[in-house]
Amino acid sequence: MGFKAAVIPVTPFQQNCSLLWDDETGKGVVVDPGGEVDRILAGITETGATVERILLTHGHLDHAGGAADLRDALAAGRPAPPPIIGPDERDRFLLEGLAAQAARFGVDDSVRDVVPDRWLSEGDEVEIGGVAFSVLHCPGHTPGHVVFVSSALRFAVVGDVLFQGSVGRTDFPYGDGAALIASIHRKLLPLGDDIAFLCGHGPGSTFGQERLGNPFLRRGGGG
Ligand SMILES: [Zn+2]
Repeated sequence: MGFKAAVIPVTPFQQNCSLLWDDETGKGVVVDPGGEVDRILAGITETGATVERILLTHGHLDHAGGAADLRDALAAGRPAPPPIIGPDERDRFLLEGLAAQAARFGVDDSVRDVVPDRWLSEGDEVEIGGVAFSVLHCPGHTPGHVVFVSSALRFAVVGDVLFQGSVGRTDFPYGDGAALIASIHRKLLPLGDDIAFLCGHGPGSTFGQERLGNPFLRRGGGG
């Protein structure tokens, strides 16, 4: 099989929108289309992939702000638009406030609120390019943040939970630093050091590299 991943940085926040697909069937997904939908569409065209669904890790503007526009753009010539799936419903308030988030940051006055076609919960599975990915609920950065993991591919998409050398910020009114660190220690790191991940900002890494070198994950330091 030929599982492929391409990162398309979007928005002034340089968010890593990801296109994941199987290059044998051409079928795949877009994860976290935060904005600049024209650039995402160009990336899709370049790869020749057919986007079957749009996945969201959490409800922040830079991850979900282009979801409604991308869905509508991809609907052209199809019997039904690709569904928007995730995150956990605890991020509903963020997705229903996307236009307000955009106004607050002054970044884009065309951003639309979105209600996913399907919410995700811990233990659910989503198909990405013919591969089953497990859904892990990893709150802390936002209450409904989810992570997608394939144990077969040894690969995860972690959104803003974990970064190379850092972790997601939790200084929002709804943030929870202890929950974030607990999510990483209890759900992500035990999956194995060899799991590579894409994250919402900056370069990816592996769980092993972060377990050993990430200063925010030192045991006894609040973990
Ligand atoms: Zn975020």
